[in-house]
Amino acid sequence: MSEVEERTGLAPRNLHHTIGGVEDEEPPGKPRRHPLWRDVPDHQWDDWRWQSQNAIRSVRQLRGLLSFTPEELEAIGSLETEYKTAIPPYYFSLIHPDDPNDPIRLQSVPSPLEQANPSGYELEDPLEEDKDSPVPGLTHRYPDRALLVTTHVCTMYCRFCTRKRATMVRGGWDSVSRNDERMIEYVQDHPEIRDVIVSGGDPLTLPTGKLRFFLDNLTAIPHVDVIRIGTRVPVTLPQKLFDQSLVDLLASSGKVWIQTHFNHPSEITPEAARVCMALLKGGMPVNNHTVLMKGVNDDLETMRRLMRGLLRIKVRPYYLFHCDPVIGAGHFRTSVWKGLEIMEGLRGHMSGLGIPTYVVDSPHGGGKIPLMPNYLVSASDDAVVLRNFEGMLVRYQAEDKAQTVQQTRTRGVSSLLQGTKSALIPENSERMARRQLHVLTSRAAEEDGTHGHNGHSGCNGNGHAPVEDLLPLGVLTNGCGR
Ligand code: SF4
Repeated sequence: MSEVEERTGLAPRNLHHTIGGVEDEEPPGKPRRHPLWRDVPDHQWDDWRWQSQNAIRSVRQLRGLLSFTPEELEAIGSLETEYKTAIPPYYFSLIHPDDPNDPIRLQSVPSPLEQANPSGYELEDPLEEDKDSPVPGLTHRYPDRALLVTTHVCTMYCRFCTRKRATMVRGGWDSVSRNDERMIEYVQDHPEIRDVIVSGGDPLTLPTGKLRFFLDNLTAIPHVDVIRIGTRVPVTLPQKLFDQSLVDLLASSGKVWIQTHFNHPSEITPEAARVCMALLKGGMPVNNHTVLMKGVNDDLETMRRLMRGLLRIKVRPYYLFHCDPVIGAGHFRTSVWKGLEIMEGLRGHMSGLGIPTYVVDSPHGGGKIPLMPNYLVSASDDAVVLRNFEGMLVRYQAEDKAQTVQQTRTRGVSSLLQGTKSALIPENSERMARRQLHVLTSRAAEEDGTHGHNGHSGCNGNGHAPVEDLLPLGVLTNGCGR
């Protein structure tokens, strides 16, 4: 085992020089490489500098690799001056060239739809970050957090990016500027700031010296507990983090958390898994943001595969963002109902570790507002009626006190509030079917004499299961029979 393998715990790679045929695999699937780069030696393919130097950056390059109509080419050609394009060969290889709606293509390749803004609702700075900016590049919005825009450079320019206004700035950003120092001074002068989000652009594109400047200075501020590095490098150019010295630099702070950004299960590759593991081994928790996008991940099965895949590589799903109303990204935006529909299909159906918080980032700088399906159905002075993921309605008494609601003849949810029923259970509940099966098999075993009474929690002492366990599925009573 090589030294890197020993440190990351990852087995040697098994590179397949094909594309296609892996969509149905649970991520991480197999490494992929577009035939254009089939003969590139592994040491170059794994070198982030080679990946950056060979990134697809123009419509002229794209037209030779993907199919476009003449109208599309004309439209995206006119967009070149408005939004930057950069797609490293690694990330480009995740695209299915024959699928114009490929989710990786939609995220990275310009689209004529970026010209549309029919309602005029999309803005350059929809979150009004610049208005909450006491010094250039720093947004101080929440009481104990600050966001620093440290660079305008990204490894791949996402078509939906909320900060296009920042990433479209061109120029050299190699040296520490007076504005960089002012951002640090602001954090030093505000002891209420405990969590600093180092963002951009992508801070892992910074030259080492400048990244060290931010890390060292923020780490030295006693009231800063958390330094969050917001980066898509594990997704779009994981080769950058194959460099263990960069992982070690981040780990040396002792305060760094990684905030990464996977949007689709195809992005969860062996390479991405490898660098996430390296970050975790360096003691840095890795959390994920996902942006909900039409055509990319706005269906339940894709989202489940994404969340399961993230858990498999030990990345914690943190936020599911509703797509911001930024200029050029309107075609990605779904209804809020779509987000709620997806959350309904996640909560209860898969591990709570894999459930992100669905948020809308509010206009006028209002910050993140969480949204979720409604689980509180009704309430009285005595109890609430809650709904679970199966659709079961259950009475829940939060306090230990005598009942105050007078009982009267009623039914449905009202009967739960009155306490005459304790739950309404949907027919065909798999959970109740399992219970019934358990009761019936236990009873059969007892009748066969192969199972004694002792220790069988469902037994009422006379060899039969409690009446409630055998009620027809549909309604369970509280035992009084009403
Ligand atoms: S990596 Fe982040 S900052 Fe860069 S283009 Fe993508 S979303 Fe925007």
